[in-house]
Amino acid sequence: MNPWLWGGLAAGGYWGVPYTVWQWWGIGVVQRGLGSSRPELGLTFDDGPDPETTPRVLDALAGAGVRATFFVLGERAAASPGLIARIRDEGHELALHGWRHRHGWLRTPWEAYGDVLRGARTLEGLTGERPRFFRPPHGAYTWAQTAAMRRQGLIPVHWTVEAHDWHPAYGPDDVIRRVVEGVLPGKGQRIEGASPGDIVVMHDAGPGGRTTAEALPELLAELKRRGFHPKPVGELRGLRRGEWRDLPKRAWVATVDRLFDRLYHVEELNYAAHSVFRVARAPFPGPAVELADGRRLEPGTPAAELHLHSERMARAGEASSLTAFRFFKKSMADLARALQERPSLANVEVFWGVSLFQEILEPVGFQMVELPPARRRFLGAYMHFLHKLYGGTPLKRVWPKLVFIDRRTLLERYG
Ligand SMILES: [Zn+2]
Repeated sequence: MNPWLWGGLAAGGYWGVPYTVWQWWGIGVVQRGLGSSRPELGLTFDDGPDPETTPRVLDALAGAGVRATFFVLGERAAASPGLIARIRDEGHELALHGWRHRHGWLRTPWEAYGDVLRGARTLEGLTGERPRFFRPPHGAYTWAQTAAMRRQGLIPVHWTVEAHDWHPAYGPDDVIRRVVEGVLPGKGQRIEGASPGDIVVMHDAGPGGRTTAEALPELLAELKRRGFHPKPVGELRGLRRGEWRDLPKRAWVATVDRLFDRLYHVEELNYAAHSVFRVARAPFPGPAVELADGRRLEPGTPAAELHLHSERMARAGEASSLTAFRFFKKSMADLARALQERPSLANVEVFWGVSLFQEILEPVGFQMVELPPARRRFLGAYMHFLHKLYGGTPLKRVWPKLVFIDRRTLLERYG
């Protein structure tokens, strides 16, 4: 058989499988906690300790009364044992990033294996405790590192929000906006900002360390204003590893959801940790309806369609259905705020949507009408599919309805 083919298969098995299954799909890797009623955020710092920037990061955390996880390098820890002691004494979580910062793919298997072991033993020697978590440099895995991880009983931890503090074009403000709002500087493109249960990766050493040290006081203040409670990864409630059954949802989010958002120009109303609404301009589809105060709403009235931030709702629902309802109810004020301050929504007279959750919507001020039978059946099947995909609790067989709330009612109740 062709030796090139064998070589290709071997390389694919050694690099391709770990890359796809662990790094990309996150199977067996901790990526997030549960969205809880008290919105938590895992805060992590890689690459330290550094004599110049780590103390500044620690000062900022102490100033805000926040504790975090430090993924340290054995080599740097051995050179600054005093900093390791300070990190520990101030109540932070020490975790392993390896002995030396080198991509696992650029090393021989025995080097990659030995690196994890040496790092773990160094850290244990300095603190008297075995580290619990491991994040390889660049989040990249090989079989050799995984074998070493198993031997040391280390749990792999990835991230869901990347601050990109190492990027030469990113200043402290860019890092804050990226973490909080998901804004990519320069591109004007929006990804998602931090959601409850996310794990954020930043750096306390290298070029990222300087940017992060500068950004941190304001970033922590902003996260607090938005209702987030940052904490070490090990203290996140409902910490879980990625599973095969998560893949269909992730694939859907990465493809169909993204495409849909772009086609319909969906805007995030990401004002706070609890925010679950997204909106897109779309005229009121009708039929003509009468509002509670006797005014009429005609088809074609300037309006915006409501979408839910499905992932946030699903995570809130994981905590409890009461949490999901509380997030939803609190988010009504986001709609009122967006109406008043977003130019894109200036002449919007009504927010409308198609929803299965009528018993949640009525008490918060929505009115509703039946959909035509054909649309109702089609949308019903689609929405039950989505609800299941996002792991929602099983629903009774309900038909979706057209739900809406007009500007005046919204501003009276939530403005
Ligand atoms: Zn790193």
